[in-house]
Amino acid sequence: MADTETFAFQAEINQLLSLIINTFYSNKEIFLRELISNSSDALDKIRFESLTDKSKLDGQPELFIRIIPDKANKTLTIVDSGIGMTKADLVNNLGTIARSGTKEFMEALQAGADVSMIGQFGVGFYSAYLVAERVVVTTKHNDDEQYIWESQAGGSFTVTRDVSGEPLGRGTKMTLYLKEDQLEYLEERRIKDLVKKHSEFISYPIYLWTEKTTEKEISDDEDDEPKKEEEGDVEDVDEEKEKEGKKKKKIKEVSHEWQLINKQKPIWLRKPEEITKEEYASFYKSLTNDWEDHLAVKHFSVEGQLEFKAVLFVPKRAPFDLFDTRKKMNNIKLYVRRVFIMDNCEELIPEYLGFIKGVVDSDDLPLNISREMLQQNKILKVIRKNLVKKCIEMFNEIAENKEDYNKFYDAFSKNLKLGIHEDSQNRAKLADLLRYHSTKSSEEFTSLKDYVTRMKEGQKDIYYITGESKKAVENSPFLERLKKKGYEVLYMVDAIDEYAVGQLKEYEGKKLVSATKEGLKLDDETEEEKKKKEEKKKSFENLCKTMKDILGDRVEKVVVSDRIVDSPCCLVTGEYGWSANMERIMKAQALRDNSMSSYMSSKKTMEINPDNGIMEELRKRAEADKNDKSVKDLTMLLFETALLTSGFSLDDPNTFGSRIHRMLKLGLSIDEEENADEDTDMPALEEDGAEESKMEEVD
Ligand code: ADP
Repeated sequence: MADTETFAFQAEINQLLSLIINTFYSNKEIFLRELISNSSDALDKIRFESLTDKSKLDGQPELFIRIIPDKANKTLTIVDSGIGMTKADLVNNLGTIARSGTKEFMEALQAGADVSMIGQFGVGFYSAYLVAERVVVTTKHNDDEQYIWESQAGGSFTVTRDVSGEPLGRGTKMTLYLKEDQLEYLEERRIKDLVKKHSEFISYPIYLWTEKTTEKEISDDEDDEPKKEEEGDVEDVDEEKEKEGKKKKKIKEVSHEWQLINKQKPIWLRKPEEITKEEYASFYKSLTNDWEDHLAVKHFSVEGQLEFKAVLFVPKRAPFDLFDTRKKMNNIKLYVRRVFIMDNCEELIPEYLGFIKGVVDSDDLPLNISREMLQQNKILKVIRKNLVKKCIEMFNEIAENKEDYNKFYDAFSKNLKLGIHEDSQNRAKLADLLRYHSTKSSEEFTSLKDYVTRMKEGQKDIYYITGESKKAVENSPFLERLKKKGYEVLYMVDAIDEYAVGQLKEYEGKKLVSATKEGLKLDDETEEEKKKKEEKKKSFENLCKTMKDILGDRVEKVVVSDRIVDSPCCLVTGEYGWSANMERIMKAQALRDNSMSSYMSSKKTMEINPDNGIMEELRKRAEADKNDKSVKDLTMLLFETALLTSGFSLDDPNTFGSRIHRMLKLGLSIDEEENADEDTDMPALEEDGAEESKMEEVD
């Protein structure tokens, strides 16, 4: 025997193994699906390699999966003639390098997820330990010798060169030494049912090593011609009686044969009207390892100059790593004339539709197509265009059922918005699929189309407000005027809305206008109203100037507002700069480039409400004495409060806190001087800095 090397499982994998072994799961049967699915992947890989180099199949020309139950030894063995693993693959893939999904899967399990989800997290192999106490993997890759991997879990595994075992030619053999209470998986019936249930659409033949017992009857004086005994066959019985006089011997003969146990006709070649919902679901599950049915399916063929068939699915949930940029999110399997080519062809579907699962089978692409050729392939471009079109059609079909659409939107609205940002050609169609809460439909979602039907006479634009959450924007001062006029405002509270709306710009010819940015014009006033307003504006001109002087660089300018009704003031941003929400989003991005932010985020305009009592009082005081200390205090406090109500964050919350505390003391008539012995050096309110933090501590 060659040298055996022992390796320790990577810590997370080890944890996963003990979880699999020590926790009770009722759904252990899924292990078979996982192993068969791994075999199928391995077969896909070697078939793909062989397209450009036929000799890759030399070691084993046939492509198959074989299942061998062995009752005597209590083992279940799964053999495939796939690509196999080199020694390095064995060490890395089966034990020392944890997949990103390992931890996520354990967390999901602990949160009550079902063990059947394992395949989605890319750690399906370890499900073998649901039923086995020991697993032996023998494997042969074209580029290496045959190796044996073995482990009873328990922290370590061994890898040994296989010098004496039966040569595989190429491929992988997994032998599971079943636990005593899992021997049901040696029963033919059970295995057949499982394959039918979980692996029916695997596109390689799955053979089961079946046992057949025949009873032979041999009579001494006759020649050895065997006679089959058929139960309940009356004639036979009579015959036997006739021959009773003669000497007879019955012997049991056990024979074995490979039985094909999956249909392999690809579902996409069949007529859609002949396929049941269950069949689609079962195909979807075998394609994706999902444990739930799909939400929607689109099965179609394109004919004419270019021919291809496709089945596309929308899952019910987003995968745990939907926007993990390290992972290629392509889930469309590409076939050429029934032969699997690849499942990560980026040219096939745009990134924002990366959550769509399915197959595409083209009649026009060459079989030996390479990745490089795919990148410029015209046929592929046409296929892609068609897939996007069909996906949007499918989304519209989902939208016909409100409950389904809510599910869909919950899971994939970010993708739609990303699509709006990136796919200019389909932007308008994707915009139809958007849904928002609004000032008029606060519990239900509304589409832009519905919004337009509700627009008031004279309303030209579509209004929206962006922010962190529905709660944060619902009572925003920015909405006051709009609400009063009866104009509906959409709540865009997803970070990606900022990007999407920036590209969308308009819907059905109507401009999308932010309620929080400069340039919000609501110009439907009478001449008289306008005049009155102008006068008011004039009377506040001095105050605006005074406030700007006090606030300095904190604001670009101070102006009389058009949009607020109740609040004293608010802070708006430039039409083309970042909104408060965008500033928040950008601040949260750790790796962002700082140079951008000073330029995009600095332009705040303070808008004051001339009809508000506080502003009126402030105006009077400023008029009386420009240097009144209380004017400075109040202006600073109004500015900081406006930062908060307008959705910005405070750079120095302590200073703000101190100001509020002072106001409280004033309100409660607590004499500042009483505390003076502790706090001899009371700083002036308009001064920022460390001294005030000191005061905060004392408070
Ligand atoms: P996943 O299959 O989702 O990648 P697994 O834990 O099931 O995760 O398998 C880990 C890796 O081990 C696979 O990615 C593959 O490289 C390798 N592997 C597993 N089974 C086989 C097999 N039958 N033939 C070849 N390689 C395999």
